[in-house]
Amino acid sequence: MTARPRVAAPIDAAKPLAGRHALVTGAGSGIGAAIAAELARLGARLTLIGRRPGPLAQQCATIFEAFGGECRHDTADVTDAASIAAAFAAAADWGGPIDLLVNNAGAAESAPFLKTDLAMLERMLAVNLRGAFICTQAALPAMLAGRMGRIVNIASTAGLTGYAYVAAYCAAKHALIGLTRALARELAARGITVNAVCPGYTETPLVDRAAATIAAKTGKSAEAARAALAASNPMRRLMTPDEVAAAVGWLCTPAAAAVTGQSIVIAGGEIMP
Ligand code: NAD
Repeated sequence: MTARPRVAAPIDAAKPLAGRHALVTGAGSGIGAAIAAELARLGARLTLIGRRPGPLAQQCATIFEAFGGECRHDTADVTDAASIAAAFAAAADWGGPIDLLVNNAGAAESAPFLKTDLAMLERMLAVNLRGAFICTQAALPAMLAGRMGRIVNIASTAGLTGYAYVAAYCAAKHALIGLTRALARELAARGITVNAVCPGYTETPLVDRAAATIAAKTGKSAEAARAALAASNPMRRLMTPDEVAAAVGWLCTPAAAAVTGQSIVIAGGEIMP
């Protein structure tokens, strides 16, 4: 007898995240805003978290206009466990348990190593590592109870290789990838995947600030500084937030159920781990 071909369970191809509640941190600008839009496009119900209500409200309105669906926003600082506990509880009351968590909030500061003081190190660890740690602890109990979850940490190529003048940022992003890998192993048999997405230089306010800093330190124009950043990869261009968001969206879909513990690089071929 010929074996029947195996057919996957039916999933709405256009909206594979329908019925899922996604929470994105740092969702008011740049990559986080693009991720929120992509998850909405794929059908998820959205909670956007950040520190500034104005951009979050604007992004919710943009999402609603483009895709309809449900989007709510709340202000919280990812480095503050009490503020995150309150925001995540309110999110669950509104939209049910959080199925998909994207730890995107982050910041980059630069300085030569001997001018990198402990305060800068603490700031970089706080927002890029501690924030993801706190948010994951807030979301995980419900994922474990439901035996389903997707956690995506927005790391960086700086989590996989070294760059001069950003030792504290590199250390924090390497640590975030360590957290991703450890959790991926711990949760693999419980229906929860944990992955990192590692953008190279991407067209966002963060890169605008980096170019302004380089311009101020070197006397180059901001335009020339951006061009130098773009030239760091073989495609010789900056990534777009939508390109990063597409990888995050895919990691959240049922198609990526077997992918965990990975660091997916979106960097125009800059690094090939
Ligand atoms: P961005 O500055 O536009 O976005 C960062 C967002 O995080 C902002 O909305 C900011 O308000 C929010 N945020 C910062 N600290 C926060 C806190 N304590 N609590 C809550 N929200 C906070 O920059 P982006 O480029 O979109 O950065 C998004 C992520 O991508 C960051 O983790 C960054 O490290 C990473 N990344 C960016 C690039 C790049 O070239 N743009 C490259 C690699 C990685």
